[in-house]
Amino acid sequence: MIPIAQPQMGIEELGKVVEVINSGMLASGSYVEQFESDFARYHDIQYAVSTSSGTTALHSIMQALFISKGDKVITTPFSFVASANSILYCGAVPVFVDIDAETYNISTTALAQTIKDNPDAKAILVVHIFGLPANMDEITRLARENNLLLIEDCAQAHGATYKGKKVGTFGDAAAFSFYPTKNITCGEGGMVITCREDIVRQVRMFINHGQRERYQHEILGYNFRMTNIHAALGIEQLKKLDYFNQRRIENADYYLKKIKHPSMVLPARPANRTHVYHQFTLQLEQREHFISYLKRQKVDCAVHYPVIIPKQKLYSDQFKYTESWPVAEKLSTRCVSIPIHPGVNQQHRKYIVEVINNYG
Ligand SMILES: *Cc1c(COP(=O)(O)O)cnc(C)c1O
Repeated sequence: MIPIAQPQMGIEELGKVVEVINSGMLASGSYVEQFESDFARYHDIQYAVSTSSGTTALHSIMQALFISKGDKVITTPFSFVASANSILYCGAVPVFVDIDAETYNISTTALAQTIKDNPDAKAILVVHIFGLPANMDEITRLARENNLLLIEDCAQAHGATYKGKKVGTFGDAAAFSFYPTKNITCGEGGMVITCREDIVRQVRMFINHGQRERYQHEILGYNFRMTNIHAALGIEQLKKLDYFNQRRIENADYYLKKIKHPSMVLPARPANRTHVYHQFTLQLEQREHFISYLKRQKVDCAVHYPVIIPKQKLYSDQFKYTESWPVAEKLSTRCVSIPIHPGVNQQHRKYIVEVINNYG
């Protein structure tokens, strides 16, 4: 089976982890600090704070921006549930805006309308879904003109650029994830980046039991810290990120050129953006039939995502979301992701294309 995801860990990661174990500094330590400064430098931004996951990175940002009970945060329905859950954690209210049919990112026309309809909204949480940057010219303009905070969920878009500028550097703060399926991984882990000192101070307190100084607890915080072991992995993975992304892009180029099937829609690649292909997602009717065919041919695949966030039981039952988001809902019935990760070599991708083109 060609797997849908495959973490790329090498001798470098192994060596660094051994160093950490030998050092005895398993929780906090110099690699945590180094990973943060390397990550900030990679993004050419002032501050980075590592966290225990992408989810806790998002949660910490929301808290640092004082998003609280009843505050409206505008976001996409088409993402991993953690994006919108980070809003719920603060007692705030996600307002879902339908997506663009081409890019699968939030629709900027729908966003403009939703901002008009919700003049009391506090923030926009934008997600660069599947590794494709959202339309940041429009989104930053709308945020600025309407005095909205802007948060980027970059959990699928490490190293992606919009007009040459890296995602994560457009808004007030951004969150990254280092879960094993992501473009780089440290097992579990996350990062907040920001150019705002007030945010970084608040995030650091929040992820460390609300303390600025040891045993002086100023706010209700959590233990959302990254360990030195995870950071050791992260340091080595970050060095390889551009190479990993290049491999994903080469695989995508190949698929875009070679997959020729009348009933399949391939992902769009708008100008002025580097898509880093966290996922390569096709659209077709009767997806289940295709999925079982792929699996029979030993090609793994996955559905991201079969149920949009506001249609999840948590959201529909407990939070009473009843509207519809037709573009996102249609996509959720038609999407299938195929292997694109750096472990997919030339032989694999040739085979995958043959299998797909012979389908049906
Ligand atoms: C993976 C992911 C997250 C959550 O990251 P974890 O590290 O798994 O907590 C958040 N948002 C999006 C869009 C993701 O893909």
